[in-house]
Amino acid sequence: MKTIAAISTSAASGGIGIVRISGDDAIATADAVFRSKSGKKISEMKGYTAALGEVYLDGNPIDTAVALLFRAPKSYTGEDVVELSVHGGSFVTKKVLRAVLSAGAVTAEPGEFTKRAFLNGKMDLSAAESVMSLISASGDRALKASKQALDGNVSRETNEICETLINISAAMAIWTDSPDDEMFEIDTENVTKRLENAVNRMEKLLVNFDNGRAFLDGIPTVICGKPNAGKSTLMNLLTGFDRSIVTDVAGTTRDIVEETVRVGDVLLRLSDTAGIHDTGDKVESIGVQRAIRKIESSELVIAVFDTSEAPDENDEKLVEYCKNHRYIAVFNKSDKPKNEVFQSFQQSFEHFVEISAKDGSGFDELKRKIENVLKIDQFDDNTPTLINERQYSCVLRAKEIIDGCIDAISAGVTLDAVNSDIDRAINSLAELTGQKATETVVSEVFAKFCVGK
Ligand code: GDP
Repeated sequence: MKTIAAISTSAASGGIGIVRISGDDAIATADAVFRSKSGKKISEMKGYTAALGEVYLDGNPIDTAVALLFRAPKSYTGEDVVELSVHGGSFVTKKVLRAVLSAGAVTAEPGEFTKRAFLNGKMDLSAAESVMSLISASGDRALKASKQALDGNVSRETNEICETLINISAAMAIWTDSPDDEMFEIDTENVTKRLENAVNRMEKLLVNFDNGRAFLDGIPTVICGKPNAGKSTLMNLLTGFDRSIVTDVAGTTRDIVEETVRVGDVLLRLSDTAGIHDTGDKVESIGVQRAIRKIESSELVIAVFDTSEAPDENDEKLVEYCKNHRYIAVFNKSDKPKNEVFQSFQQSFEHFVEISAKDGSGFDELKRKIENVLKIDQFDDNTPTLINERQYSCVLRAKEIIDGCIDAISAGVTLDAVNSDIDRAINSLAELTGQKATETVVSEVFAKFCVGK
């Protein structure tokens, strides 16, 4: 494997910046650019020790540095690793990286350090993914869930389910090979019970991801309502700055503006859409069509109504659009006197909150409503947590296959036919942990990482 290097700290200025080098030639590369004050070479140092010295580029000192050595296999990547900690200005770290690259290392791909950790058996694929999830965690719950996954809880749970399925599959295989041998008689009822148990465990994983997705992955959310209801003002309140243009000329938010915001523990992937209303304006009507499509693909609709006016057909239309979706009705402009007709209109909503997007009153209630509707209180901190859609779909596929096996067994399908399906379910779970992931899957996982991780 080529020796790789990258700046592992943030691109912004900071107290310390770290250039990480990993690979067979990591120590020789570091020795080529670093001279310790004591005169001792890094190659002469023990693992887990550090030395103070200077980093040089073309014979000129760049900065004082601490070189920290991790000898294979006791390092993050499982290879020899040297970390050069220098002063954290981005110009300094870039120059140190240039020195390291000119000494023979190549630039690390995004996530390549973690990919090597995975390839060297330091962590499985689900744990590797949790590294990224931990880095991007924006709340306590996301942090706890990612840490759990990194500690191997998801892998342990999946491996145990896998083991159950492998045992059942092995027993079935022996039985199909010697069906008349009484020694290997198979108890169908017992097999069904064990498969049901595996399904229950997988269901728990799936449900917990659904409940935790609001703070792990974010919920695609759309803000909609007729023109001038206050969508952009609400969007600005949620994002905390002027992201969408607010004017009182109807129909000014023509396109969709997107932003991820944290509301309490919840991450909303927000779209502020064009107002939904009948329009003769061609550009605007394209925006309206997009808004309607956006509602269809969203998982939470925030429907904004202007309570200072009598509801009109556009409001009625919005209620129709929302009916089949998870929504919260936001009764906006509570700082103004409420229109009397609106009073009776508002009775038809299950989840609603009265706010003034303009002065922010009612915002805390909106936060609570969002958390309630997304059921984040049902997330169980003690159940292992899948942390992304890839992991979710691996478990979902395995669960659906085993559901099918249970149905097939009760319908009297032969065990050898069922057994090949159990193998497919095992493979799906093995894809989650990476034991059977294809090169493409592995590359896709690490492509989402940042450089230096
Ligand atoms: P949009 O077309 O739905 O995006 O509506 P805007 O957010 O652009 O708001 C339209 C007008 O209503 C602007 O003049 C806002 O200042 C005003 N507005 C928005 N929210 C409130 C509110 O809570 N109270 C009052 N009094 N005015 C509001």
